Amino acid sequence: MILEHRAEAPFFKNGFVVGCEETREGIIVDPGDEVDLLLADVRRHGLTITMILLTHAHLDHITGVARAKQALGAPVWLHRDDNFLYEQVVQQGLMFGVRVEAQPPVDHFYDGEGPLQFGRYTVRVRHTPGHCPGGVCLAVSRLRGEAAPAGQGRDDDASPVLFVGDTLFAGSIGRTDLLGGDLPTLLRSIREVLFSYPDDTVVWSGHGEQTTIGRERRSNPFLTR
Ligand SMILES: [Zn+2]
Ligand SMILES: [Zn+2]
Repeated sequence: MILEHRAEAPFFKNGFVVGCEETREGIIVDPGDEVDLLLADVRRHGLTITMILLTHAHLDHITGVARAKQALGAPVWLHRDDNFLYEQVVQQGLMFGVRVEAQPPVDHFYDGEGPLQFGRYTVRVRHTPGHCPGGVCLAVSRLRGEAAPAGQGRDDDASPVLFVGDTLFAGSIGRTDLLGGDLPTLLRSIREVLFSYPDDTVVWSGHGEQTTIGRERRSNPFLTR
């Protein structure tokens, strides 16, 4: 798996490029103010991006969508329950005191769709509301029965990498005081959806460093009570 992460001021929100090392197909997750760095990563790895996937529609996660779509021509995916936030991105900017352009319309909603695919990888979309109504976890894993070519990939390629947006952070959890946020719902999403994955599952959050399900299960102060 090719995996690049980038973050830029003012929000230092993580944007990701994920690619298949064999077919050179890839996805972009949550393009924000760091979108130009992500596009440079795409070029450097020689990737063809087939989808722009959003974990949720808070402004820091979507300010680069227009630029990414224009550069790559790939469709934008979002959970339907966050479309009202997506369409209010200009107003979200006013709340945070930043000027944000309206973004192009969402092309596909996740609901009703089976697993998505790029190259030899699948993306399973798990609804994890609580931080916002349409938050999702994107679980990216290598297709079953597909051995990694010699010298590339590792034995653990079959276990997914999770892109959890702002639901769970290393040592913390997402805020629930924004529009549509709800703490009991957030805790249920973490315990029932995210914690259903094995301890060694790698977690990439919308902000900060990577962690694992096991580390958060054992030591996250919001979840060990
Ligand atoms: Zn958020
Ligand atoms: Zn965020």
